[in-house]
Amino acid sequence: MIKENLKHMISNIESASGKSFEDSEIKLIAITKNHPIDCIIEAIDSGVTDIGENRVQELTKKMDELDSLGYNDKVNYHMVGSLQTNKVRQIIGKVKLIHSLDRISLAKEIEKRAKANDLVQDVLIQVNVSKEETKSGFYINEVKGFIEEIKDYEHIKVKGLMTMAPHFDNPEETSEVFRKLKNLFEDISTLEYNILDMEYLSMGMTNDYEVAVREGSNMVRIGTGIFGEREY
Ligand SMILES: *Cc1c(COP(=O)(O)O)cnc(C)c1O
Repeated sequence: MIKENLKHMISNIESASGKSFEDSEIKLIAITKNHPIDCIIEAIDSGVTDIGENRVQELTKKMDELDSLGYNDKVNYHMVGSLQTNKVRQIIGKVKLIHSLDRISLAKEIEKRAKANDLVQDVLIQVNVSKEETKSGFYINEVKGFIEEIKDYEHIKVKGLMTMAPHFDNPEETSEVFRKLKNLFEDISTLEYNILDMEYLSMGMTNDYEVAVREGSNMVRIGTGIFGEREY
């Protein structure tokens, strides 16, 4: 099932981008939260190279399990959920990308822990495009000011932006959210700060990844579409 689902996702991504998956250079992050290790292994064996979790505890547990099974070299880890400051040290340097940099106190902690480990941590700034109260992230008009505040940090690299779009019944409204983030991405890409190395625009989940890809996403985060419904 997982293998077929993946094929299906990839062919939809190809249709939305108008390119082969390889040429599109779109990264597919398989979101494995609430799915057991054998499903994750099946996904990796079917070609998944990047997996994401939204809770530190579950992420580190799965990392340990995959490590003991000899899978650690085959996969990159992504932290996609809101990150408590006191948990940063558990994942620093172990994840390829933190998608959820959403406040200055978190930036300070990541900088401090990365420095202590003598490494540079790649992150994405999370943006709350539609200003939903239930979602975290900077508002669009706050992002440049935030970058200004952290621009001299030497142990963080801002690799791009991430957002979660609200659920709209009308895909055109979803498009607008993604388009706004793409514009902000282009805008920030013109800034010349050492902390910036704008490469990834992480937007699109199971419900809206095709819209996101059409609007310029190059990193989609898909859970349900690959693994089926989560059981809570
Ligand atoms: C759960 C989650 C996803 C994947 O959601 P699906 O709808 O299952 O594809 C993507 N991004 C984040 C931040 C998530 O928490």
